[in-house]
Amino acid sequence: MAKILKLDPHVADLIAAGEVVERPASVIKELMENSIDAGATVMTVEIQGGGMTYIRVTDNGGGIAPEDAETAFLRHATSKLRDQRGLEAIGTLGFRGEALAAIASVSRVALMTRETGADAGISLSLEGGVVTDRAPAGCPEGTTMIVRDLFYNTPARLKFMKTDRAEGASCSAAVLRCALAHPEISVRYIRDGKEECHTPGDGRMDSCIYSLFGREFAAGLIGTATEADGVRVEGYVCAPRAARGNRNYQFFIVNGRNVKSKALQAALEQAYKNSLFTGRFPSCVLYITLSPAAVDVNVHPTKTEVKFLYEKQVFDGVYYAALNALQHETGSAEVAISSGTQKTIAAPERGKPQDAGFAKMSAEEYRKSSDPAAGQAARPQKKPAFYGAVGKNLFREARSSDSVRDSGGVLYRAAPTRKQEEPKGDAPEQTTLAGMPEADSWRLIGEAMDTYIIVEKGTSLWLIDKHAAHERLHFDRLKAAGGETMTQTLLAPIVCRTGREDTAVILDNAELLSRFGLAAEPFGEDAVALREIPADLMPADAEAALCEICELLKKGGGDDAARADGIMHTMACKAAVKAGMKTDPAELRVLVKKVMSGEVRYCPHGRPVAVELTKNTLDKSFKRV
Ligand code: ADP
Ligand code: MG
Repeated sequence: MAKILKLDPHVADLIAAGEVVERPASVIKELMENSIDAGATVMTVEIQGGGMTYIRVTDNGGGIAPEDAETAFLRHATSKLRDQRGLEAIGTLGFRGEALAAIASVSRVALMTRETGADAGISLSLEGGVVTDRAPAGCPEGTTMIVRDLFYNTPARLKFMKTDRAEGASCSAAVLRCALAHPEISVRYIRDGKEECHTPGDGRMDSCIYSLFGREFAAGLIGTATEADGVRVEGYVCAPRAARGNRNYQFFIVNGRNVKSKALQAALEQAYKNSLFTGRFPSCVLYITLSPAAVDVNVHPTKTEVKFLYEKQVFDGVYYAALNALQHETGSAEVAISSGTQKTIAAPERGKPQDAGFAKMSAEEYRKSSDPAAGQAARPQKKPAFYGAVGKNLFREARSSDSVRDSGGVLYRAAPTRKQEEPKGDAPEQTTLAGMPEADSWRLIGEAMDTYIIVEKGTSLWLIDKHAAHERLHFDRLKAAGGETMTQTLLAPIVCRTGREDTAVILDNAELLSRFGLAAEPFGEDAVALREIPADLMPADAEAALCEICELLKKGGGDDAARADGIMHTMACKAAVKAGMKTDPAELRVLVKKVMSGEVRYCPHGRPVAVELTKNTLDKSFKRV
C-alpha cells in the first residue's frame, strides 16, 4: 500500500490555518485588511470573550457578488492577483487568498454581503469550512463577517490560547495597529459591549493618533516629514522626556501596512542616541511611503515583517526624520541636514507643539549633547570623547534629580547618600575589618571611573567591577530568601505605560510578580500602576525592571524555577549600584569584603566580578624582571 498520500484538502486547510490564524488577533488583522482592500471608509470591529467566542468585522466596502461568496472561502481564491507580474507590484494588503479559507476551517463563520449598487445581498454560513446555509439577504452595502468559536474543532490549538484578557488585549492591539495605519478610515472598536475607540477617519494623522492613544501620548509627540531618494517619511516621534520603558509604542507604517523592522527600529534609536538614558526607548508613529516594488512583503506569512530593496535609503529616511524633529524641538534654527540629500518638507500638524522636554537645557547644550555629525550627510560613526563627557554629566545630573523627586513619593527610604567623602590617602583605609585574620587583610585604595574598585591584597592588585559584585550579592540574597524581599510602599504609585498587550501579561502574572515585591494594579487599558516595589530598588528603576520581567514572561519557555531565577536576575541587576555612578565608600567596603572573602566570584550572568593583577605581572610590564 502506498505510504505517501496527498492530504485531504480539509486537513491541509487546518495545517495552513496555523500559519495565518494563530490566535483571535490574527483573524481580526486578516478581516480588517480585507475590508481595507475592499475600499471601506467605515469599519466596526466587535469582539467578545477575548475574540475566542465572537469576532465581527463590518465594513462599507465594495462587497462580494453572490456568485463569488462561496469561492472566497476556497484556498488560493483571491480577486487581487492573477499572475506573477501582479505579485511584483502588489498594492493590496492581502493577495494569497488563504485567510478566509484558513479562518473558516477552524471556526463557525457567518457572512453577509451586498455589492455596491446591487439590489440584494447574500448570507452564507459555514462550519469548519463547510457551507451549511445560503440565502439571499437584505443587508446594507458592504460586508459583515462574524467568526464564532475559534478553534472549536482543533482542541490542540485551543490549549495554546492564553487568558481571555491576554487574547482580548492582543485583539485590541491588532485593531489599533490597523486603525493607526489608515487615518482615512473611521474605525469603531467594541470590546465586550463597550466602545474602546473610534477614529474619525478624516485622513489626519494627528486626530487618528489622538483618538487611539489619548492626550498624554499625543502631547509628547513632535511632527516631522522628510523626503529623499523616493522615500517619504512623515508622522511623529516622541520628545525625549516622553520616552518609555519598552518599544511597544514604535509604529512603522510602510505603504499602509504596520510592520516590524529591526532596521527601522535601529534608525529611530540612532537618532536618540545621546538624548536618552539606557533602558528608555523612543516612541513613534511614522508613515513611510515608497514604491511597492521596493518592498518585499512576502517574507512572512502574516506579512508583518518586510524586506527593503534599498535598506539604506529607508534607514536614512527614518533617521533624519527623527533627528529633524529632535532638533526642531529644541528651537534650534539649524536644520539637521545640509547636504542636500535629505530635504525637510512641511511638517504635518503637531499633536501638541513645544513641550518642555529640554527646558532645562539650552539649545546650545542640546546641540553639543546631540549627534556631532548631525550637520553632515554621513551618519556618525564614532563620537569624539568630548561629547561623551557632556552626555555623561547630563546623565548624572538627571539621575540625582530623579532620585530627589522619587524619594518624595516613597513612604520610607533613606535618601541615597552620594556626596560622602571620597576615601582620602592611605591611613584611614588601612582598616582590617574586625574578626578578619591578619593574612586576609586588604586595603581599599579607591574607585576608578566610578566603575572599578581597586584593592591591594598581599602582592596583588584587585580590580572589582562594583556593579557585577553588587548584582551577585543581591541575587544570592534573593535566592536564599526564595525571592522574598522587603518592600516599600509608594505614596504616589509609579504609572508604567506598558501598552495593552504587556499590561495584560503583567496583570495575568500579578501574583507571581508580587512574590518578588512588585505590586502591579491595572491603570486603564494600557498601563499599570506600581504601588509597592522592593525596598532596595530605586523607584526610578522600577519601570525598567518591570518591562524587562515582562519580556521574560512573554518569551515563555522554561519551568517555574527558571522563570523565578530570571526574575531574580533582573531584580538583582536593577537594584545593584551602577557603573558610572558614585557609590558610598561604606557600601564599597561591604562589597570588597564579600569579594575578597571569596563569597562572590561571578555575577549571575557568569561574568567575572574581580580581576587580579599580580606584582609579578606588573613587574614584567615595567621590565623589572
Ligand atoms: P486575499 O485577501 O488574499 O485575496 P482572502 O482569503 O482574505 O484572500 O479573501 C478572499 C477574497 O474574498 C478576496 O480576494 C476578496 O475578493 C474577497 N473578500 C474578502 N473579504 C472581503 C470584504 N470584506 N469585502 C469585499 N471582498 C472581500
Ligand atoms: Mg485577505
